[in-house]
Amino acid sequence: MSGYSHPYWLEVPALKGSLEKPLDAEIVIIGSGLSGVSTAYWLQEKGYSNLLLVDYEPDTAASFRNCGHILYGTVESMQALVALHGEDIARQLWALSIDICHEVRETILRHQIQAHYRQDGYLVIAIDESEDREIHQSIELLRKNGFASEYVDQAKLQKLGFRNIFGGRFEPGSAQAHPTLFRNGLLEVCLKRGLRYHSGVKVESVEETGDRVRLRTQPWGHLHADAAVIAANAYSPLLSGFFERHRLVEPFRGQIITRRPFKNHQFPVRYPHSFDHGYEYAIITEDNRLMIGGWRNRTEGGELGTYEINVNPLVEQGLQEFVNTHYDLTEKVEWEFSWSGIMAASKTGFPFIGPTDSQRIFTCSGYTGHGFSWAHGSAKILADIINGDPVPEIVREKCNPRFFM
Ligand SMILES: Cc1cc2nc3c(=O)[nH]c(=O)nc-3n(C[C@H](O)[C@H](O)[C@H](O)COP(=O)(O)OP(=O)(O)OC[C@H]3O[C@@H](n4cnc5c(N)ncnc54)[C@H](O)[C@@H]3O)c2cc1C
Repeated sequence: MSGYSHPYWLEVPALKGSLEKPLDAEIVIIGSGLSGVSTAYWLQEKGYSNLLLVDYEPDTAASFRNCGHILYGTVESMQALVALHGEDIARQLWALSIDICHEVRETILRHQIQAHYRQDGYLVIAIDESEDREIHQSIELLRKNGFASEYVDQAKLQKLGFRNIFGGRFEPGSAQAHPTLFRNGLLEVCLKRGLRYHSGVKVESVEETGDRVRLRTQPWGHLHADAAVIAANAYSPLLSGFFERHRLVEPFRGQIITRRPFKNHQFPVRYPHSFDHGYEYAIITEDNRLMIGGWRNRTEGGELGTYEINVNPLVEQGLQEFVNTHYDLTEKVEWEFSWSGIMAASKTGFPFIGPTDSQRIFTCSGYTGHGFSWAHGSAKILADIINGDPVPEIVREKCNPRFFM
């Protein structure tokens, strides 16, 4: 396989910032992935103009290493969410996730960002009987709470080109997009509005000192701002004592493989789909490639706690075998790209949006795998918080980073 740990999405290079020494700013945003760029975007929408965006080794960001799914809900099924948090919280969370997905769509439309956005839905496929039961329960709960969701039986799934499966759940509102094109397009909007963006700034710590925030950086020493936003998701504990002390997020490695474009084979299901409780997830790209990720739950340790973005050959092999087992393909599979990226599992199961232990140091992070939409939507909510505007009740109750203080 060529392109060792090189994501297909980075065939479109990520825009990078200036390599010169950055100047102090009113608000500094640490991280230029979907969270950081979205934070800059939404703060500009509120009228903030003196913003500085910094990053370090941006090509390793999960934002360019995901599967392009923009999904309603969270990483948990509705059945699991209700079991974990109760029906009222689960309903509020699901509704918020829908609003958040629609924010991505509205932003793309507003700025005509060419990001291969398609809102074709999402199919959750059961590969064993117990998952099939969970799907039935989730559909019942979703419908009861006013959300569209339908059961797809085994025969229909077989017609759609899947094998060794049970039933599935189809939900029409989810979408997909090219993450690098979306992030670059959004960043261009911000740069045109005056955002200052610097790459190669390794933030080692961020702390409040009197009425300012001080960042210790390599190679530029101290940078100062009135406020800072930690938008480094899985990397946040490496630069923030608050994240490290409270273990708000745990890094884990996800992995994806992508095939050369199929010449003749046509997939009836080109939109996001997943198997085995979401542990395997796939799409068909614009140029007719099968992209599939996951399989970490079958490894020892579940790929938890690592920042290494080299690929695990066992996972690569597992994913290839998974495709052979579950897809009906009329063409030989020739894998071309294989890569991994680091996501952040949230300690609470909710993203963290708001001030940390300092009223000047904020974060939006901790999306447990659903960061494409949540990063953009959480950043919008964070801009509301920074600006003193109202936020949804569920965010105040469940997404407060100070939960553990
Ligand atoms: C394999 C895989 C598949 C995924 N699939 C999906 C999917 O299909 N759908 C979905 O919704 N989500 C998916 N995700 C999750 C999603 O990609 C992430 O949740 C989201 O991209 C997080 O964005 P972010 O901007 O918060 O963090 P990241 O994209 O990780 O960005 C972190 C930023 O912090 C910067 N940074 C880190 N350390 C420092 C430092 N010391 N100093 C300065 N800057 C620093 C980096 O340069 C980078 O810019 C997937 C993730 C992976 C890895």
